[in-house]
Amino acid sequence: MNRTGASVLDADPSDPTRSANVLAGLLVPNPKRFPERGPATVARLVEIAEIVISETPRRERIVRSMRKALGERVDLHDRIRAEHAARVTDVLLRELNPTEGQRFAQLLLDSELSTDEVVSLHRRHKIPVSELEDDLLPVRGKGARIWDAQGRTYLDLDSNYSATNLGNANPELGQGLFNQACQLVSQKEDRIQVARARFLKEIGDLLPPSLCCFYWQNSGGEAVDKALKIGKAYTGKTGVVAFEGGFHGRTHGAVAVTHNPAYRQPFGLSSEPWVHFAPYGDLNAVDALLSRAGVGSVILELVQGEEAGVRPADPVFAQGLREMCDHHQAVLIVDEVQTGFGRVARTAGDWFASQRYGIEPDIMTIGKSFGGGYPVTAVVTNPEISERMKPGYDGSTFGGNPMAMTAALIATRQMRRLNLTERVAEISRRVVRGLSAIESPLFLGFRVAGMMIGIDLISPACVREIQDRLKTHGVHSSLSTGATMRWMPPLVITDEEMDYALGAFWKSLGHVQGDYSEKILDAAH
Ligand code: PLP
Repeated sequence: MNRTGASVLDADPSDPTRSANVLAGLLVPNPKRFPERGPATVARLVEIAEIVISETPRRERIVRSMRKALGERVDLHDRIRAEHAARVTDVLLRELNPTEGQRFAQLLLDSELSTDEVVSLHRRHKIPVSELEDDLLPVRGKGARIWDAQGRTYLDLDSNYSATNLGNANPELGQGLFNQACQLVSQKEDRIQVARARFLKEIGDLLPPSLCCFYWQNSGGEAVDKALKIGKAYTGKTGVVAFEGGFHGRTHGAVAVTHNPAYRQPFGLSSEPWVHFAPYGDLNAVDALLSRAGVGSVILELVQGEEAGVRPADPVFAQGLREMCDHHQAVLIVDEVQTGFGRVARTAGDWFASQRYGIEPDIMTIGKSFGGGYPVTAVVTNPEISERMKPGYDGSTFGGNPMAMTAALIATRQMRRLNLTERVAEISRRVVRGLSAIESPLFLGFRVAGMMIGIDLISPACVREIQDRLKTHGVHSSLSTGATMRWMPPLVITDEEMDYALGAFWKSLGHVQGDYSEKILDAAH
């Protein structure tokens, strides 16, 4: 069997020996070749039979035969035992036609556990700090597409919060990570290593030239935390200006500078004396705060995402902020965790929002798509700030480990090779044209920054209805802020796929509008 599973299904359906081996190998995988998998459960076999075999009486007969082959006392959630695999394989080869057999094998390869089992395990074991999204179980991806455990395909408009800009599966990344994992997995942040040197040798001019010093982390929130610490240590001032509508993550420091009080209050962080919020765009308010003793840093997103529903900063504000920080000798921290690596490009070369706005931050945080979806983040700064940090100020076990550095190297190389910023600028214009042509009383307007797209609808309920409707067209969008639906598709989405998503949106508006009209008519009668 091929490691990625791709060639597992290449078996000629008319070659029964090969097909039998493939099926048996999926029912009870060889643990040396597939250490990440386990034998299939009975529940999954029943689920797959329901998907693959449409005629009820035939399906029921095949399920009965499979259960008989598994022995009398087997429970739905038991895993298949090795001694039963051959008997189940015989049933499947006898009963399924070649097309059904291949589909059965693909679904088994996608997951050996049933959707219900996966959902109930998550429900039982998740600490509910966020709502569990169990509307689909993604098992496989390619480019901007995702397949679920039922074999349905969706166009992905979330890209895991902009982490999978290079697609939902990336063979080059997979190969590089496999090679590195077989070589050396983990090394602490403060030890030298080859993988990091490879990255540093190649990163070249992708980042603004002055930002050449890195502190490696594993999540965006951590990077924000460490950026705040570095800013404070450099200026010797603990006060930080942050903005209304801003979002910077959920670690203690990052959430303290995130505006939404609901995220801060439960943890006693609602009025941290070192955090000062200003209205986004209000230079006078920032000036007043920076004039206070002890306030030395400013942190912002240049395109506010999560909490503001895609709000690009006014260029006058962005440039004014840079000048104001210089004037007050304050540190300007631009959080590019979401906007970085081409997401908001307007022209070729806009790898970061700060380049789009023509400003150079003192400290920048990067993450999300940095590793093509593999977790790697960093604080980057200039040598002057970097030199003021002292050994012992911080430390990280996993930050910038060899796997992370390999992912960053391969992903950034690929972004360059694909001319990703040029592509984003081009497809962004296509999105603007497409959305401009759509009219509906439910659709109030939109904002587009590169491929960060905010679509204003009449209410949060309407957003949910449109997102539900989009799913029926095979388009998956789950991000929203109030009455704004947010789209951040993988940056490798094709023109055809983007047009399809826009068409599905237009159809969904028509459908939901029809439902609304009926409701109004019903109410009137
Ligand atoms: N900063 C910004 C601007 C973000 O959008 C996010 C996450 O959405 C974060 C920081 C936190 O990143 P993470 O979820 O990787 O901690």
